[in-house]
Amino acid sequence: MTSTREEVLDRLSSLRLHQRHGRRAPHKPLLVLLALGRLSETGSSELPWSEAETRLGELIAEFGPVSKTARAQSVAYPFTHLRSDGVWALNHDVRMDLVGPLRARNVVGRLADPIEMALRKDPALLRAAARTLVESHFPPSIAPDVLTAAGLDPDDILHTPGAAAAAVRQRDASWRLAVLQAWDRQCAFCGYDGQLLSASVGVEAAHVRWWAFDGPDSLDNGLALCVLHHKLFDFGALGLDPDLRIHVSTAFTARTSVGRTVYDLHGRMLKPRPGTPVPAADHVSWHRREVFKGEPLNA
Ligand SMILES: [Zn+2]
Repeated sequence: MTSTREEVLDRLSSLRLHQRHGRRAPHKPLLVLLALGRLSETGSSELPWSEAETRLGELIAEFGPVSKTARAQSVAYPFTHLRSDGVWALNHDVRMDLVGPLRARNVVGRLADPIEMALRKDPALLRAAARTLVESHFPPSIAPDVLTAAGLDPDDILHTPGAAAAAVRQRDASWRLAVLQAWDRQCAFCGYDGQLLSASVGVEAAHVRWWAFDGPDSLDNGLALCVLHHKLFDFGALGLDPDLRIHVSTAFTARTSVGRTVYDLHGRMLKPRPGTPVPAADHVSWHRREVFKGEPLNA
């Protein structure tokens, strides 16, 4: 039996319901994205545990929140639990969460038959599914990195007309402009303010609490950041402490003098234009808890 287009998208959108109180839970969406990558690459979503343990482990470490859980355990959770969402099947009936049996039998997982059949028949549906997943769990600045790491082509998926995700909320188009203006069109971290002719180039409005996690389009949830610092902020290499000092994560490393300029940001205070709202404490603590990677450098 094949699922309809709507059934496939509904099932995948419902993975969002596992988000509680703004906690990020990207494990299941990352597993599905990895399976979609294999399906488009090889024609089958089959994923043996040995490969999931490495590849999904890397995806969770790179794109998930910091966790004290051992890597294999953090992979076993989605690999076994995704079955209950009706989108995943294993070739052996193993217990939830246990790494041992998955390893011993090198259990193979795959998308449930009706879903895989529907996706195989309709490449546009596969693109729409990947886009829905990535946009509901990650901000636009790192969505292309997530897709690439999962073996999918970001240009193909993010720029396909008509594949827009089931957007529950409407984005406020004027917010970006207002944020750039409020911060004098400069990066709030490094002060970069390049223009090409008379237009800013390489400065973007960044959400502190991600839009996909109920971060509002408000000035106290926005920072103007250069492209580089926007990306490092969304990856959790950069963060803010409660006093709005910039923190650099110990997980970030650089060797060249240009790369090492990032270290110089550590401990610097945000310097907003007079009257510009600074990021609200709630949003800053969300970013700290859900995005910032590991420990800040020792100042
Ligand atoms: Zn910057």
